[in-house]
Amino acid sequence: MLRLDKFLANMKVGSRSQVHEIIKAGQVTVNGKVCRSAKQKVKEDAEVLVNGQAVIYQQYHYFLLNKPAGVLSATEDSRQKTVLDLLKDQDRYQKIAPVGRLDKDTTGLLLLTNDGQLAHQLLAPEYHVPKTYYALLAGVADEETAKAIAAGLTLKDGTELKPGQLKILRQDKDQEQSEIEITITEGKYHQVKRMFASQGMKVLKLKRLSMGPLTLPADLAPGSYRPLTEEELAALK
Ligand code: URA
Repeated sequence: MLRLDKFLANMKVGSRSQVHEIIKAGQVTVNGKVCRSAKQKVKEDAEVLVNGQAVIYQQYHYFLLNKPAGVLSATEDSRQKTVLDLLKDQDRYQKIAPVGRLDKDTTGLLLLTNDGQLAHQLLAPEYHVPKTYYALLAGVADEETAKAIAAGLTLKDGTELKPGQLKILRQDKDQEQSEIEITITEGKYHQVKRMFASQGMKVLKLKRLSMGPLTLPADLAPGSYRPLTEEELAALK
């Protein structure tokens, strides 16, 4: 149950004061009756109509974003652009936040939601949600690198990592570069960059391709986002 003005404002029918105006003007019905009280408590599944148009209450929102480089995975920053600045006004729901972080220069799949419980599940180490990244490396990754990653690396500062999987897409011995895909089940700070640094390689480009059952759609341009489909949401839960 929540107040009618909050119900309507949360569903972006208008600002709190605009919503008060339309309620007072008798433009809102709740379960078939005009309701002129903003304080009226309504159930989330009540039939609420504004000028005859149904407003369906949806508490949680889920967006799949293709994060561009140069944008912070944070909810606010006084000077730099954040991923929330990429959302249209009507999609900036209260408490919406990125699930985990990608570095400023990392691109690719980022889930944004106000469903704290789901965010927690996806980030909790005990769930081991796999994340796959594409990377362009300065250095030649080979079978030895793959074996070391599969065995579980220990970083220079002693951090022990769970086994990961390396797929070598291209090796260029003349240019000393490689393109790879790596799958890890943790999300430690700068993890992929630190993994390759421990092998003497630098990550030149990093893009997240998937997280659990979600994959970055090929047609989602950097900086664009779309709601999760019902199938994607069901696969996550
Ligand atoms: N690993 C990194 O080093 N950076 C990211 O943004 C994600 C994983």
